[in-house]
This record gives sequence, C-alpha cells and structure tokens, in this order.
Amino acid sequence: MITQNTNSDLAQRDTNVLWHPCTQMKDHEAWPPIAIKRGEGVWLEDHNGKRYLDAISSWWVNLFGHANPRINQAITDQLGTLEQVMLSGFTHEPVVRLSERLVALSPKKLQRCFYADNGSCAVEIAMKMSFHYWLNKGKPNKKRFVNLANGYHGETLGALSVCDVPLYKKTYGPLLLDVITAPSPDCYHREAGQSWEDYSRQQFTKMEAILSEQHDEICAVIVEPLVQGAGFMRMYHPIYLTLLREACDQYNVHLIADEIATGFGRTGTMFACEQASISPDIMCLSKGITGGYLPLSTVLTSEDIYQAFYDDYTELTGFLHSHSYTGNPLACQAAHATLDIFEQDNVIENNKTLAELMRTTTASFEDHPNISEVRQTGMILAIEMVKNKPSKEPFPWQERRGRKGFQYAMEQGVLLRPMGDTFYFIPPYVINEDEIKLMSKVALESIDHAVKGG
Ligand SMILES: *Cc1c(COP(=O)(O)O)cnc(C)c1O
Repeated sequence: MITQNTNSDLAQRDTNVLWHPCTQMKDHEAWPPIAIKRGEGVWLEDHNGKRYLDAISSWWVNLFGHANPRINQAITDQLGTLEQVMLSGFTHEPVVRLSERLVALSPKKLQRCFYADNGSCAVEIAMKMSFHYWLNKGKPNKKRFVNLANGYHGETLGALSVCDVPLYKKTYGPLLLDVITAPSPDCYHREAGQSWEDYSRQQFTKMEAILSEQHDEICAVIVEPLVQGAGFMRMYHPIYLTLLREACDQYNVHLIADEIATGFGRTGTMFACEQASISPDIMCLSKGITGGYLPLSTVLTSEDIYQAFYDDYTELTGFLHSHSYTGNPLACQAAHATLDIFEQDNVIENNKTLAELMRTTTASFEDHPNISEVRQTGMILAIEMVKNKPSKEPFPWQERRGRKGFQYAMEQGVLLRPMGDTFYFIPPYVINEDEIKLMSKVALESIDHAVKGG
C-alpha cells in the first residue's frame, strides 16, 4: 500500500501521537502543523509543494541554508568513519580540532571547551561551574546568580531560573532558584531623544548597586550580550557590557555570556562580546554552531576557572558533569564545515551588505501608525507592532494579533514567527536581495493584516 504523504494526512497522524514544543496543542485544531518535506537554501517546502522563505532560520539555528552541500558533505564523510564515542576517557579528532578553532576564535580569556548537546544544558553547565569554582576556592556562600530583566537562557530548571520571561517562567516559580534580577539595559523604553548608550549606561547603575552590596553571595552574572532574543529581540548598547566586565572584575563575580543566539555572526561580529571588547569568564554557544544541522553546545571558560578544578582525584574537586552525546563527532564536523564557510566566504564582511539591505527595505516602516520601533543589530532586525504608537501601548495579548500576522505571512510564502506582536528577521546568511525585499514586503503586509484584526 502506498500512503500519500500530504500536509493534511501528516497533520492528522501527528495530532494523534505528538506533543509539540512551546505549543498549546488545542491551537492545532484551528492551525494544523505544517508538514515540511524538504529544504534548500532559505526555502522550506511542504508536502503540497508550497514553499516558505525561512526568515527566522528555523528557530535561529540555520546559518547557511537548508541542505547546504558543504555541510552535507562534511557530515556524510564523518558518517562512514565514526558516528559517536563517549567523551569521558576518550577523544576524537573532530572535537580536538573544533576546540582549537573555538579557543582561537573566541575572546582571548576563553581557553577551554566543555561540550553538551543543547543550549539549556550549556547554561546549566555554566551555572554549576561558576558555583563550584567558588566552592573550590573556599567561598561556598557565593551561590546566587544575577540575571537581567527580560533575559532568556533556556527551559531546564536551572536555566529557567535565570530567565525572566514570565510566559515561560511563572508557572514553574515554586521549583526555581532564587535569583537577583537587575533592570534590563534594553533601549525600547528610553526617553524620546535619549541615545542607546545613555540609556544602557543609566540602567547599569542598579546592576552596579547589586554587585557592590551583594557580591559576597553572588557567583555570577549571566547576560545575553547586545540582544535579548526570546525577550522579544530587545537590544542594548555595548557600553553596558564594558561596564559590567569592569564591575565583575572589581567585585569578584563571574561574567557568563550566553551567546547561544547572538554567536556566529548574528550581531554583525563573530561574537557579540567583541563589540564591547570584553572577554567573559564563561561563554555558552549552541544554535548556529553546527550551521543549524545537529544538536551541539559548548561552554568556553578561562584557564583560571579550569585550574580551580584541577587536583588529585581524591580531593574530589573535579567537574563530574556529563551528557551522553557530549561532543558528538557528526555535530563537530558540521561545526567545522560551518567555520570553514565563515573563513572561505568572508561571511562577517559580506553580511554587512545583507544587514544594510534589511535596514533599507524596512526604513519606512517607522512611519506606520502601528509600528512603534524598528531596531537592528547586525543580522537581527525587529519590528514592534503596537495598538497606540505614541504611548507604545500593545494590543491586548488575548487578541493574538502576531499569530494572525504569522498565518498571513505563511499564506504569502514567508515564515515569520512573531513573538507576541514583535515581528523579526534573523535569516540564514545565504539570503539574497530579492528574498530580503520579499521578506520585508510580506512583514509589512502581515502587520497591516494583523492590525485590521485578521
Ligand atoms: C535558545 C536559547 C537557549 C536555549 O537553547 P536550547 O538549545 O533551546 O536549550 C539559551 N539561551 C539563549 C540566549 C537562547 O537563545
């Protein structure tokens, strides 16, 4: 018997057996999941042959398009040699060479790579490492984390504890660590005429106060450098990171840079921290690290942190954390192919042209009566849809207008997935001029459609 795999067949079978991430499953009664059959470059194609421009890089992971021939080849080559080996007591060439490359590429203080297989786990590792470092140094009281309002660091309980997005966090409050939350440097609410730099500086005063008063009980500050991704792509000025680095040094507190979303060129530099000329003590990478192919994450740390764990086994100071698929060779080869493309194609430089095209094709959007801001940092551009422009009052969230915009954009063949009423682009770097124009045109039409109420 030949089964016809159409969108509706698959959607039907799906809803019998699956439970999807970040989804109220009842929504699928009205909006069945879209069954994707294949991808090529910036395009995804469903089982009915309809194509969608992947303007959000499949949840921000894809860098060089779907079915990229160079990444495909690298994984295929590795597949015939070694698919997986445990990384405890064993090693392999792809992970050794990847670590050498990441250490060379990253801010200079970062000298060691610890691997896991997703972003949330990288954050868990960073948190455990920081706490454990201070414990090994005879400072067991340093066990609290400082995060930023509106920050996002993943969904596992430790990572969720340092998040500040109520939609994901509030329900699980009783299970979470007690963290200290500093106001966000996010510039959306700055005064009219105030510069990003001035606003981010002003927001730092509270962080400074927290560190100066409570540093004895604080092990680390965790931030998403420059762009708060899941916090509606809010953005801030690099000065905040510069000031934070100084304060963390002054008060003996680790700085954890969560570059899971911002890393690998998203903000216009390889890592966002470069724009503030700082080295964090710990840096988390995932998402784009494999070009969006396979799960992999890395926690880079300073030699100082590494040395605090290094002793005779019987001292029991080692970092005994592990995950089964840590440093998977296939994922490492995908990462190599990704880094090769960065080198061979001069990606960071060429992205400046793409970022400029994103800017010019959306330049007039701020004149729209329901768009309160268009903001951009490198290859990330966000458009804020509001009910009332002067007051920035949002539409009631229950109206789900962003969702209406999403539906409309999909009909037009563009995958935009607004967070609330924030529309954003975070496209693969292989997008071309015509595709950027299409993405921008459809975004504006989708906002018009959503404003009208769908
Ligand atoms: C996506 C994300 C995470 C979580 O990564 P997962 O692989 O989804 O667990 C953590 N931090 C930031 C900044 C992210 O954008």
